[in-house]
Amino acid sequence: MLQKSLVLLCLAISALAEIRISTDFDGGNAEVVKLDPSALTLRIMPKLHEGRGWPCWWYFRLDGLTPGQPFRLELQAQSKPFREKQFLASPWCQPKHAWLSSDGETWSPSDAGTLSDDKVMTYILTPMTDCLRVAWGPPFVSADAEKLLAELAEKLPESKRFMLSKTRGGHAVNGIRIGDEKAPHQVWIGARHHAWEAGGSQVGRGFIRWYASDEAKALRAKTCLHYIPIMDVDNVKLGAGGKDAEPRDHNRDWADIPIYPEIAAAQRMITEIHQKHGLDVYIDLHNPGPSDPIFFFGPFTFERMTGIQQRNYSRWMELAATNITTPRPVEPKYRFATYVRTEEERGRMSSGWVRNHAGDFTISVTLETGWNNPMMSIEGYSNIGAGLGHALAAYLAENPRRK
Ligand SMILES: [Zn+2]
Repeated sequence: MLQKSLVLLCLAISALAEIRISTDFDGGNAEVVKLDPSALTLRIMPKLHEGRGWPCWWYFRLDGLTPGQPFRLELQAQSKPFREKQFLASPWCQPKHAWLSSDGETWSPSDAGTLSDDKVMTYILTPMTDCLRVAWGPPFVSADAEKLLAELAEKLPESKRFMLSKTRGGHAVNGIRIGDEKAPHQVWIGARHHAWEAGGSQVGRGFIRWYASDEAKALRAKTCLHYIPIMDVDNVKLGAGGKDAEPRDHNRDWADIPIYPEIAAAQRMITEIHQKHGLDVYIDLHNPGPSDPIFFFGPFTFERMTGIQQRNYSRWMELAATNITTPRPVEPKYRFATYVRTEEERGRMSSGWVRNHAGDFTISVTLETGWNNPMMSIEGYSNIGAGLGHALAAYLAENPRRK
């Protein structure tokens, strides 16, 4: 009996001793706290990229696994502050389910993790192959954006790919324009002002694939759409959180003089679109807190609005609630980002800046898709995106510029 246990233990040790963890790819992030072969346990925390925002995103690859042999993945919060004396609370990096992939393409949730009193989340993972990718959520990196933009360009020969700008790190921020520049309606949709919020890009992909489908033909015929799959390309590449980066993050950089060239370029393009043709809809896609549902952040002045503005924002909310239902319905009322205290800061949030620089008939909103749920798979996010497309079609069909 003892001998048999010893053999099993040796097998276990040799199995885990050969496990290699790697993060040297786009979006990769993990700081190993301990790798304990005898306990078949790996503990990590999100690696801190100083000045680059919240340490919440993690994504790594394991090689040398033994198929069928379970091991423990433990997740703890980063132990160092991300900004001055601010530490990031552990729930941001501890989804109920870790996300697993053996091919880097298809992702499925692990069994639910269990949270200990000392705020460590433990997932039991049973690999089916000797290699496993493990992440906070289904990732979406520049290669995914590139593949998607190429797919769209091929499917819709009338579309035009463009480079919004190069980042400070020298990487391209790419987008695509679908529709005639002078079309009666103008729309701008994008994701990842916060790098870690990969679900925002997943929703965007679901949206744009629906938009390129036959079902959206009539919508495309009267609309010029600009779509940007990833704004904060530099931090997405690094696997850094981006949110609350120093001195400010992309979503708070919509100032008179932006720090990030991609924000300045987006401001220039949106201004030009609005001046020449009028901007109807601006939507920024995010992926909010661990206990958040799916909702829109609306304009702070919503309750005081009158006329065409009030009509359009109200109608958008009604149509969004009717059309965004799967896998979970969007909340039928706006929320307001009241945690942003000053007018100055509110004005340099992306949706706020667009509101202040566009017309009475323009709506500018943020779609916040919750993530802490196994339904928020690639397919789940994609369905939200398709619902967003349906809402947009219904909204523009009523002509928001009518008096
Ligand atoms: Zn965000």
